Amino acid sequence: MRRSANFVQNLQTGNIIERYGETMGISIAIDGPAGAGKSTIAKKAAERISFIYVDTGAMYRAIGLYFLRKDCRDEEQIAEECKGLSVTIAYQDGIQQVFLNGENVSGLIRTEEAGKMASFVAKIGAVREQLLELQRDLARKENVIMDGRDIGTHVLPDADVKIYLTASSKERAKRRYEELKAKGETCDLDEIEKDIIARDEQDMNREIAPLRKAEDAVLVDTSSMSIEEVVETVVSLYKKR
Ligand code: C5P
Repeated sequence: MRRSANFVQNLQTGNIIERYGETMGISIAIDGPAGAGKSTIAKKAAERISFIYVDTGAMYRAIGLYFLRKDCRDEEQIAEECKGLSVTIAYQDGIQQVFLNGENVSGLIRTEEAGKMASFVAKIGAVREQLLELQRDLARKENVIMDGRDIGTHVLPDADVKIYLTASSKERAKRRYEELKAKGETCDLDEIEKDIIARDEQDMNREIAPLRKAEDAVLVDTSSMSIEEVVETVVSLYKKR
């Protein structure tokens, strides 16, 4: 993928890429379904190549948390009210912190409930629009590894490297189960797999920016790979770009 060629071509066609301007950093887009290990991999790969790691799911989770607290599932109301919300991110010791109306909610958004609500609000166009600019703005200023569902297809269609990270739903459920068990939480493997499948369905079948592999993304199935092997794959794709 050549940014300069795309940039010129898109300026001529009036395509959206022209909005990036010339000061963009290098960007690596990692998309994939829930529990595929995107954040673990992206964080480690970003450390290896000194890029900023941007977790876009955390932004949707912050908005999800806001409406969870209000117990609001009315799509019209969410579309209207989300415009008044402030979601910002900052880095403390290299770790992304998410702020919702000035409150650091990073420690509150990792629950299964917040994940489900994030997926619910992520269907709504006004929510996506609001976060799109924040995400593009970061990629404009920094070299980023950005993970999410629509980074390679929609947020950064001109990313230097695109990866679609996946694993079987059984394997993803098993990983999440181990994670929760290690935290001392009681959980049921079948329930977790059911939730993962439901969230994938919702993310893949929504009308706006659904989860799918970009045509020019490299598919990496991590079902039988170690974390180190996947990190190595990402770093070598970046070096070969
Ligand atoms: O990746 P994570 O599980 O934190 O994402 C939570 C939810 O946010 C996803 O299930 C998805 O619905 C939404 N999301 C999205 N687009 C992104 C990132 C996350 O729609 N770029």
